[in-house]
Amino acid sequence: MSENLKEVWERCLHIIRDNVSPQSYQTWFEPIRPVKLEKQVLTIQVPSQFFYEWLEEHYITLLKHTVKKELGPEGRLEYSIIMENSYHAQKPYTIKVPTSEQKAVRNPQVSMPLDLTSEHPIKNPFVIPGLKKVHIESNLNPNYAFDNFIEGDCNRLARSAGYAVAQNPGGTSFNPLLIYGSTGLGKTHLAHAIGIEIKKNFPNKTVLYVPAEKFTTQFVDSIKNNTSSDFVNFYQLIDVLILDDVHILGGKEKTQDVFFHIFNHLHQSGKQIILTSDKPPVDLQGMEQRLLSRFKWGLSADLQVPELETRIAILQKKLYNDGIELPEEVVEYLAYSITTNVRELEGALISLIAQSSLNRKEITLDLARKMIDKFVKNNAREISIEYIQKMVCDYFDMPMDLMKSKSRKREVVQARQIAMYFAKVFTKSSLATIGAHCGGKDHATVLHACKTVNNLMETDKQFRAYVDDLEKKISLH
Ligand code: ADP
Ligand code: MG
Repeated sequence: MSENLKEVWERCLHIIRDNVSPQSYQTWFEPIRPVKLEKQVLTIQVPSQFFYEWLEEHYITLLKHTVKKELGPEGRLEYSIIMENSYHAQKPYTIKVPTSEQKAVRNPQVSMPLDLTSEHPIKNPFVIPGLKKVHIESNLNPNYAFDNFIEGDCNRLARSAGYAVAQNPGGTSFNPLLIYGSTGLGKTHLAHAIGIEIKKNFPNKTVLYVPAEKFTTQFVDSIKNNTSSDFVNFYQLIDVLILDDVHILGGKEKTQDVFFHIFNHLHQSGKQIILTSDKPPVDLQGMEQRLLSRFKWGLSADLQVPELETRIAILQKKLYNDGIELPEEVVEYLAYSITTNVRELEGALISLIAQSSLNRKEITLDLARKMIDKFVKNNAREISIEYIQKMVCDYFDMPMDLMKSKSRKREVVQARQIAMYFAKVFTKSSLATIGAHCGGKDHATVLHACKTVNNLMETDKQFRAYVDDLEKKISLH
């Protein structure tokens, strides 16, 4: 390694270290190896495609600034990615990916000659120059294995169908297998789990996980580059195709056409297709009928919001994997409070752990309560207008009737305005609805009330104290 390369990278690391947490630094920057420095282009080697994407998603601005700072305005970064599962090769495959400046970044277009068809090399939209043998990166995230996917009533059908498919890909009547459910319920996780399990059972099968979004861009690029037949040929080589979030193909007719084509080819050759979608096939908007009818050939299985026991089990699994211990009451409290989806549940757990380590506070039920209240308020739990009115009346020791009356007495008006204000903050109700609940006022009155409360909070300390206090009480709901 040239001295210069080493030094430049050391200096970059120095800057990076000052800008990220020690944990992130250790996870995402220590594993990077500088491999080349040529004409202000610094090439760094990263351990996997996933790693590269993570860097691009989370640290691209920092990396860009750092490189420019060290190498001047012309400075650029290129990645060299070690391919995972590279059982064909002794030494790591590397690919070159120019960093974000160029548009090519998400879908680097580099040709990959495949040995299968001797005459005409097919371009792999996933990159890899100079590869001699067929090697298609699966893009599977090992953390999303079946072991980490907690079973419950909410996912039993989808999970067991997925498991069955993984024992006999292409050989069950679950083809395609379509997993649907709203966001954060585990579609992506389950899709990966199936892929991982297939790879485990049939190491020689070519499994490919691809988000529908990426599939679309690859296709669009292939048209631009006049390589769309290569694109199709590439996908037709896959044994198990996992297309995530297929609903985003809605309205994209050309992409649907090409997918229809690929689908038919794979299906006819007994290959397995796994799809995920945020809606059941019948509700997919802008999807061609012939494609929808294909989706119905196999099995559609849904994911529901997990029930309490499953939510607890998911949290416990996550804690166990991360080697963290939490009092049982805290875990239960989290599981009780966050009912929307698993992603939110995990999000709450992560914030809680982060808060406790930042403030060096033990994770107690009390801390969890405080945190969750904030968390939940920003999310889905709907508080009713009546509840807010009751809280406000209790607080000012005022009969509900009085608040809902036409009284113009100052304290009554103020209580009424505060109730309207909180109704606006805590509920999704329209101004008109709020007005109707608060003694038949119109939307302009509610709007005025909100403004008045905001103004008073700025100018009147005592008033502000009331409102803050009440806000706490209401959000503790
Ligand atoms: P979706 O693709 O449906 O939006 P994801 O698969 O991304 O949802 O899941 C969101 C998060 O919840 C992921 O971190 C995933 O690991 C986790 N998760 C979802 N379902 C389960 C489950 N049954 N067991 C364990 N973790 C789960
Ligand atoms: Mg997903």
